[in-house]
Amino acid sequence: MRDLKDLVRKNVWALKPYSCARDEFKGEASVYLDANENPRNNPYNRYPDPLQWEVKKRLEQVKGVKAENILLGNGSDEPIDLMYRAFCEPRIDNVVAICPTYGMYQVCADVNDVEYRSVNLKESYELDVDGLLAATDKNTKVVWLCSPNNPTGNSLKTADMERVLKEFDGIVVLDEAYSDFASAPSFKTRLSEFPNMVILQTFSKAWASAAVRLGMAFASTDIISVLNKIKYPYNVNKLTQEYALDILKDPKKIEDWVEQTIQLRGKLEKDLRKLSFVVDVFKSDANFVLAKMTNAQAVYEYLVGKGIIVRNRNRVTLCSECIRITVGTAEENSELMGALNEFAF
Ligand SMILES: *Cc1c(COP(=O)(O)O)cnc(C)c1O
Repeated sequence: MRDLKDLVRKNVWALKPYSCARDEFKGEASVYLDANENPRNNPYNRYPDPLQWEVKKRLEQVKGVKAENILLGNGSDEPIDLMYRAFCEPRIDNVVAICPTYGMYQVCADVNDVEYRSVNLKESYELDVDGLLAATDKNTKVVWLCSPNNPTGNSLKTADMERVLKEFDGIVVLDEAYSDFASAPSFKTRLSEFPNMVILQTFSKAWASAAVRLGMAFASTDIISVLNKIKYPYNVNKLTQEYALDILKDPKKIEDWVEQTIQLRGKLEKDLRKLSFVVDVFKSDANFVLAKMTNAQAVYEYLVGKGIIVRNRNRVTLCSECIRITVGTAEENSELMGALNEFAF
């Protein structure tokens, strides 16, 4: 890995972060007249903890990642954007990502005016490690990996990801939004082995909390410090922090939900394979399946007419004639299958 100082943008490295009232005074007091807060409407009148220590301490127990190795954000979208703002000099630096993958990596590159280089996965949706590394140059700051990948649903091979982490000398972001549904273990236990790794996880999928907008980045304390310096001071509000503390009390419930989703995914895959117009159902490690149809557009429109919305991925690289279907409840899935069984083309 290059020195962090050479990877971080010069202005960010030199930045003196905004100092809020509570940064200057730490500890307990009886009268707070330092932040121009309104003394009424307790407890929502007070600015929340900018570093969300209580939530991180609980995450330490649940995730096994030390609080100081965690950044919390407004969904994963925030840490995705922070990677560009921290590391990529607009119009000079570039990032390299797999293709197809999650759209936000490119959207944030475009917003930040950073060149986005795509390297196709193999036909099998496996990582083309040599192709990926060949697309990097001295201005490549970040490589984007997503495993299990969206929209293909497969986990990338551990050995392939290890090669990228070892052989690329910049930052490697590994988006694990769906790792709870996968059989392969998360890389979150291997932060000390790979100082250039940033792992993204989210409350939106397995934790069933997309509405609250809470995402996590796990990385070395050095990388987390850089990201903390440039994030909005109060990026995670008090309501969200309270919500997180509450749902983190019952990780067993989440495990049960994940178990149910995995079972229902297996049934959905099997049921889809029986349909005459389904060409292929790709092995999924996520909470959705990607299925290749004889005519994805027609199937998509037919389902819309029935009030069932799936994601048409027909126009996505390597996904022609493919539809992405989220695993729903048993009832939702059978409604979908009932409709598909009546589809005449
Ligand atoms: C759904 C998803 C996320 C989650 O994004 P949030 O902003 O946390 O809701 C992140 N990465 C991928 C690949 C996803 O599919």
